[in-house]
Amino acid sequence: MAGIYVHIPFCGQFCTYCSFYSVKGRGYREKYIAALHNEIEYRKHFFKDTGVSPRTIYFGGGTPSLFSPVQLGELLQHIKEAFNAQPHEVSIEVNPDDITPQYALQLRNAGFNRVSMGIQSFVDEHLKWMNRRHTAAEGERAYHNLREAGFSNISLDLIFGYSGLTPHLWEYNLKKMVELFPEHISAYQMSIEPGSALARMYEKGEYHLVPDEICLREYTFLQEYLASNGYTQYEVSNFARCNPAGEFMKSHHNSSYWTKEPYIGLGPAAHSFNGAIRSWNNPSVAKYCRYYSSPEFSPISGCGEPESAAKLPAAVGGFEELQGRDIFNESVMLGLRTVAGVDLGRLNPLMLDEVRGEIERHCRLGNLVQEGDKIRIPSCRLFVSDGIISDLFV
Ligand code: SF4
Repeated sequence: MAGIYVHIPFCGQFCTYCSFYSVKGRGYREKYIAALHNEIEYRKHFFKDTGVSPRTIYFGGGTPSLFSPVQLGELLQHIKEAFNAQPHEVSIEVNPDDITPQYALQLRNAGFNRVSMGIQSFVDEHLKWMNRRHTAAEGERAYHNLREAGFSNISLDLIFGYSGLTPHLWEYNLKKMVELFPEHISAYQMSIEPGSALARMYEKGEYHLVPDEICLREYTFLQEYLASNGYTQYEVSNFARCNPAGEFMKSHHNSSYWTKEPYIGLGPAAHSFNGAIRSWNNPSVAKYCRYYSSPEFSPISGCGEPESAAKLPAAVGGFEELQGRDIFNESVMLGLRTVAGVDLGRLNPLMLDEVRGEIERHCRLGNLVQEGDKIRIPSCRLFVSDGIISDLFV
């Protein structure tokens, strides 16, 4: 299922653990929206040769909810027209303190039908330490505002694996989460990302790593708690439940990344993949705005896709044609992160022969399960999936 990703790299304030590229950039916001409209126009033929039409649109960031529903709605409308998209899933990432009843309603009316919100914790002290912009009560209020506005597909994020999170508080967070009963839950282990405030705290000895066995205990508890409350895990960090119509509410947009469908990424640092070539935009907001508003820029000058290094548009940071080994490794990595696993019949047979010994070894260790032509990591080993996956790279 092909998708369109719109990157909004602006944040109201920066979270302790985050190293994503984003700016406060108040002075750039209007210019940025204009530049995005130009990029949409410039690249509107992206899907022409892929034989697919986009079925999901995802506004991520950063914090897209820093922008008005009118600005976001106009972008969405332009995207639908330019790419001839008839999406069945239109998602947006939001920050709880932006979600007033009126904002939620306007977002719904603008055409979004799925919201992903970073709750992260229901403990105020932890939210403060994470430098989040909201309290636990504001997070819950925002959720109810979304429901009252008619959103019937909501995803909430939680974080575990940081010091200060006791077993009791982790259970409390999961209990609060399940009481809200969102359709989808993502849970991420906190890691020390280079360039983040947390990395600086760690270097100064002000933060200590949580031992792996504690993180594993929290992850296992997460899996069990959500399973016993009606959620099914479908990827390392993602869980969903069925809606009243019996539809499993996974993220279709993210699932298409894992199955390697074509996608276009709009905005600085966003990646695109047309089935053969992967390209990425220059990460700088300033350069992006300059390029898409420069006098020589012309929205009719081409479909904007890199054909060669010499013809690389200035807003494109680079591109690569995926080679056999990249394709193999990516298929293994993305597939084994999902609970469904990888279909061996879809992998290059010669490369597969190179790692058959490793597959058999991991099967003997219980790290992999082979069922017919499929291999998957059992749920009790998903926590250590990175190590298992890297052993299968060619
Ligand atoms: S976690 Fe999200 S809101 Fe926080 S700094 Fe990173 S991108 Fe911004």
